[in-house]
Amino acid sequence: MSKEKIQSVTVVGAGNMGHGIAEVIALAGYEVTLHDIDEDALQTGYEQITQSLQDLSTSGRIDESPSEIVARIDTEPNSANAIENVDLVIEAVSEDMGLKRNVFSELDEHAPADAILATNTSSLSITDIGEGTNRSSKVVGMHFFNPPVLMQLVEVIYGEETSERTVETVADFARALGKTPISVEKDVHGFVVNNVLAPFSVEADHMVSDGESSIRAIDSAMVHRRGYPMGPFELGDMSGIDVTYEAQDAGDKPVPPLMEEKYEAGEYGRKTGKGYYDYDLGDGAEYSIADGSEVDTFRIEACLINEAASLIEREIATAADIDKGVKLGAGFPEGICERADAIGIGVVYNKLRTLYEASGHERHKPSPRLKTMVEEGRTGKTAGEGFHTYDNDEQ
Ligand code: NAD
Repeated sequence: MSKEKIQSVTVVGAGNMGHGIAEVIALAGYEVTLHDIDEDALQTGYEQITQSLQDLSTSGRIDESPSEIVARIDTEPNSANAIENVDLVIEAVSEDMGLKRNVFSELDEHAPADAILATNTSSLSITDIGEGTNRSSKVVGMHFFNPPVLMQLVEVIYGEETSERTVETVADFARALGKTPISVEKDVHGFVVNNVLAPFSVEADHMVSDGESSIRAIDSAMVHRRGYPMGPFELGDMSGIDVTYEAQDAGDKPVPPLMEEKYEAGEYGRKTGKGYYDYDLGDGAEYSIADGSEVDTFRIEACLINEAASLIEREIATAADIDKGVKLGAGFPEGICERADAIGIGVVYNKLRTLYEASGHERHKPSPRLKTMVEEGRTGKTAGEGFHTYDNDEQ
């Protein structure tokens, strides 16, 4: 039996994510223990929380005093003591499978038998992380986005053995933290948001490599014409081209040519001073509205929609959760399934078929879900049903 309601929580790993997650938990009124193997990191994490709470207070975003909130946070350098009486452990140690598996074995040994063990991994298999434990039904993914205090989304991910009850308990806890959970029904690499987002950079990369468009033109078009908060290349430079490259590679997905070139040259983006744009010697990610007027933005969006359709077809996520995910986790101006319904599923399907006939690339092959939707007349908003249903009489 696992807990139905979470009252006591420990966060393991006080780095970038761990300290932010502990802060979110304390902000929501819960007692939380923060643990790190490295005492300096633990102290730094604690100080970062204190500073962040001070900033939130100064800007008027919290009513409670920072000292009251921080009083709910306990730091514990001893791992066994840190998890003695918990209902939920959230692991946020470095992204290394060997390390996470060891941490989970230790958690399994010392945490109460009914405690849930969650991992904040951004890319590793939940099933593999929990394999060495004796409670795989209580091992779950709980993927917060960076920075946890500001980002509202939490992906809750099933491992192969995770029970529905564990997922529901963790999703309820995420709601109690003021977050919006979405359910990732299968343990797939990239979960939901990163999978839907991947074609944003991959397709844009091919458009430049094919000589069809340019970096500035695409960024301009996606931002100014389609409303995305950043263009694919600007985003790539900010996230780190090495990070995107390694995620593609780890997911056994082909790395597009320009990304490969930048990675090989060690030009990772903002952090190295040069990536798709030059930040040290050039103007950085500068583009004007006019730059993007000729870009075929639909080529990119059709691929995003295809990925969403494929996740639905493989029963990994629902259209509603995908839409919440891309809006809250990636800042999309509207859900990608909502956008598909507005464009028309038949139009999207035909675009992908045309792309596929010309390229023969697997990434352009229309998902069977789109074909079925077209055949069944579920072609989007105008038809009253697409990924979502619409009451057209009300308009
Ligand atoms: P980080 O390097 O900032 O922090 C990791 C912390 O784990 C360090 O303080 C380290 O001392 C500690 N640690 C290492 N081994 C430990 C052990 N055995 N016991 C206790 N603590 C240990 O890393 P991060 O960016 O906070 O990432 C943590 C996890 O969150 C990773 O799995 C990462 O993929 C995931 N994640 C990161 C982001 C992001 O944008 N940084 C976003 C979502 C998820």
